[in-house]
Amino acid sequence: MKILTIPTHNKEDLIDITDQIEEAVNSSGIETGICCVYVPHTTAGVTINENADPSVKDDILMALRKIVPDSLSYTHAEGNSPAHVKSTLIGPSISIIIENGNLALGTWQGIIFCEFDGPRRRKIFIHTQP
Ligand code: ZN
Repeated sequence: MKILTIPTHNKEDLIDITDQIEEAVNSSGIETGICCVYVPHTTAGVTINENADPSVKDDILMALRKIVPDSLSYTHAEGNSPAHVKSTLIGPSISIIIENGNLALGTWQGIIFCEFDGPRRRKIFIHTQP
């Protein structure tokens, strides 16, 4: 397993980590298999979506803020319940098929780390398997 550490710079941030994951897959030497990307945090997540037009990331954050308003009557004392809920909606992991030694992503797809309670230093676990 490889561990990637990335700094986030804002309270909420969607960060393209496709290149780092691709690098981990390439260095694994695996030609055909599965790559699992897992985020060991309760206020962050990982997803796959468009990385070509940056406004898609902005729209995802905007929609999540609408779905999970800050104004609800949350009981969690730490005060970051919206981040916990968004983390659960996005999810902590993704699996991607490895084909010919590369990630089998679609033309417009990128791997996006989702920060909901930054800025922090975050870990991303990468496991590849033939
Ligand atoms: Zn909390």
